Formats: sequence, C-alpha cells, structure tokens
Amino acid sequence: MTTDVLIVGAGLAGLSCASTLTRAGISSLILEADDDVGGRARTDQLDGFLLDRGFQVFSTAYPEAKHILNYDSLKLHNFYPGALVRFEDRFHRASDPFRYPLHAIQSSMNPIGTLVDKFKIVAWRRRVLTGLVGDLFQKTETTTMTHLQSMGFSQVMIDRFFRPFLGGVFMDQSLRTSSHMADFMFRMFASGDIAIPENGIGALAQQLAQRLNAEQIRTGEKVVNIKGTTITLASGETLTARHVVIATEGPTATQLVPQLETRPYHQTTCLYFSTSEPPRTGPYLILNGETNGIVNSLCVLTQVSPSYAPPGQHLVSVTTGENSMSDKGNIQAAVRSQLMQWFGKLVNNWKHLRTYYLVQAQPDQSPPLRSTKQMNPKIGEGLSLCGDYCATATFDGAIGSGRRAAEEIMSKFKT
Ligand SMILES: Cc1cc2nc3c(=O)[nH]c(=O)nc-3n(C[C@H](O)[C@H](O)[C@H](O)COP(=O)(O)OP(=O)(O)OC[C@H]3O[C@@H](n4cnc5c(N)ncnc54)[C@H](O)[C@@H]3O)c2cc1C
Repeated sequence: MTTDVLIVGAGLAGLSCASTLTRAGISSLILEADDDVGGRARTDQLDGFLLDRGFQVFSTAYPEAKHILNYDSLKLHNFYPGALVRFEDRFHRASDPFRYPLHAIQSSMNPIGTLVDKFKIVAWRRRVLTGLVGDLFQKTETTTMTHLQSMGFSQVMIDRFFRPFLGGVFMDQSLRTSSHMADFMFRMFASGDIAIPENGIGALAQQLAQRLNAEQIRTGEKVVNIKGTTITLASGETLTARHVVIATEGPTATQLVPQLETRPYHQTTCLYFSTSEPPRTGPYLILNGETNGIVNSLCVLTQVSPSYAPPGQHLVSVTTGENSMSDKGNIQAAVRSQLMQWFGKLVNNWKHLRTYYLVQAQPDQSPPLRSTKQMNPKIGEGLSLCGDYCATATFDGAIGSGRRAAEEIMSKFKT
C-alpha cells in the first residue's frame, strides 16, 4: 500500500492529524507501538470496571476538541462545578458562584480561603473569559504560584485549594507551571462542563479512530528509525511516504530525532478501589486541603457515571501527590491509612483493583511555554512533529497540534 503521510503514534495528536488529512483527501497510515489507539488517554476494562489510565477529565470548552469530537455520541457525564475540600476533619464545598450561587454563598465563610479570596476568584474568572483563548498565551508569563500571589490570593487559599486543584491538573504541586496554563485551564473550567465519557476517557481516541479505515492504523508496530521520509519498524520492515509525522511523546521523539530537545516529564500515581458503598455521594472531585498526606485528590467515579462499574459496585479513583512513586511498596497502605481518617473503617473493605504508575504523564510546562506561534516546531523537509508537548499538555493541546501538523502538510502538498 502506498500512502502520502506516515504518522508515528496513535494518541490523540496522531489521530487528529490523520483525521484532518483524511478530510482533505490526503492518505495516511498510522504506526502505533501499543496494542490499541489512545496513547495516554486509554481506558482498560477489568471485571466490568472502566479504569482510565490515570484520573483524567474532559472540558467541554476545549476549543480544538469542540471542532473535531461529537460530544453527543461520547455521552458525557458531568462533575459538580467546584470541589469538596478535605480540611480539619470535614469536607468543605467550594462552588462555582455563577452556576451554584446559593452553594457559593453557603461556602463563602468556609475555611478554604477568605471572603476576599472568593471575590478574587470572580475577578480572575472575568479576566480569563475576556477576549480570545489565544490572548491568554500572549500575556506576561510567570509561574502559577507567582500569578496567584500577584492576583492577591491568600496563602491559605493557595495551599488549601489551588495547590491540590491546579497542582493535580498540572501534576506539579509546587505550582511552577506557566501562568498561561493556569489562565487557560481556569477559562476551561469557568466556561465549560468538566466531564467523563460514558465509556471512559479512551472513548475520545476511539471516536477519532472510527472515522479512519481499519487499514489506516497498524497497532503493535514500533518505529525504531526515521531517515528522511523512510521509517523502519522493529520488525525490520521499511516504509516510505511523501511526509512523516512524529506524534509520539516528547522523549520518544528525541530518540527518533536526536537533535530535538524535550522537557522532563511529571509523574503521577492513580489507584483504583471497588466498594459496594460509596464513601461520598454526589459527582464531586475531592481535594486534600491539608498540606500533608499522600493523597492529592479522590473521586467516586460511579457517582459521575455509573457506567464505570458493574451494577451494585462503585469505583473509587485516588491520585497521589507528585513524589509518591519513590515508595511504591507502601503507596497502597499509605493511601488506605489516610482515607481511613477521611471515611472511617469502611475503607478496610475496599478492594484494590489496580495501581497505575505513570512515569511520563505530562511534560513539564514551566515558563517559558511555547507561544501559539512557536507550537509544532519544524524539524526538516518532509518531517513534522505533533503532540501535547508541542502545545498544551491536554487533550485539546494534542488534538490541536495534530490538526496544525496536518494543515502544514496540506499547504505544502498544494504548492
Ligand atoms: C494521568 C494523566 C492524567 C491526565 N489528565 C488530563 C486531563 O484531566 N485533561 C486533559 O486534557 N489532559 C490530561 N492528561 C494529558 C493528556 O492525556 C495528554 O496530553 C494527551 O493524551 C497526549 O496525547 P498525545 O497524542 O500528544 O500523546 P500520547 O497519548 O502519549 O500518544 C503517543 C503515542 O505514540 C505511541 N508511540 C510512542 N513511541 C512509538 C514508536 N516508537 N512507534 C510507534 N508508536 C509509538 C505511543 O504508544 C502513544 O500511543 C493527562 C495525562 C495523564 C497521563
């Protein structure tokens, strides 16, 4: 089979690239090392439970995703807009004041920040919702921590809410991530719903893959070398096309093209437990507002979408803080011990299903983040890059990066 474009990697970036090329009538073939599509955004099935490879949520406001994904067929189930914060032996509700004004008034006096902090949230919300999404990436850049401090948030608000919340999103509890990402994610939370698809987060990639012909994706095919526009597979087979797109994670791209430089990656650990009784009801993300303990956040996923477990069962997902992987042997015991303080002895009855140790979870996004103009760097004639590390480390960043790579090829093929 001859093809115009070879794409290495069937994560969201590679699939978005192939999907855009297909719509333009350009043929492509994806080579994927793993046994299925999705990359980091995959869902495993275990005895009727849906286990996303790490706790992942989708924002319906993602600007790139809106154009390419069909939300109706994803059957999205929404989280409560806000969170529960565990602090001083209680769960305190932090609500989006625009969607749940009554809850916001009730929570205005809780110890998760001062009343002034709550007004500052409203002001930040107004600022990030002004103008185009791209404008947020043109502002003066600093770290998230400095940004929060310069907006006047109290240290209490930062430690009890933003550190577990944004620190969990960025897998960076020190909040060294770019302020551009903080603004971008805050806009996404403020302007869309936070959701999970009924069939798990892997449904995003499955939907894109279903738009391609089955022969357009070859799984179990690791690319080991790229020379010009010829690639070599681990099997020894070589393939040549007019153009090659590397849509792998950054470190693999560096192995294939040694002159490339990529950033270090953040890691995270996600533990899944099943239980017949949910420890909390309601579709909440629960944050650890204490500055100690191994747990960063917890979610009873079946309270958001019952499809995540067989009937009569509940699925609890626990995400730990960034440095917890150094003590793999004790993670489960440490998590259980902390959650016993939150939910009591019930935790002893939880059945451990699986732990995901995600070493290359998200590229570091500390400043300077690429400006929109620098995204998808060019690396040579007939060779392009795409992936979340070329944009923002989100589903949306990966999808947008794949689209841009495809559009560059489309304009090149026209000339
Ligand atoms: C635990 C966790 C939580 C996250 N939470 C969120 C969230 O809540 N919201 C959000 O928007 N984003 C989240 N993300 C980020 C999001 O998952 C990623 O940004 C996105 O999926 C990256 O897509 P990608 O296509 O760029 O890369 P990947 O998904 O990594 O795809 C790269 C593909 O290339 C393949 N590959 C690698 N090497 C080779 C080779 N030599 N030959 C052939 N194929 C190869 C890989 O197998 C993989 O399939 C999270 C990520 C993790 C890990």
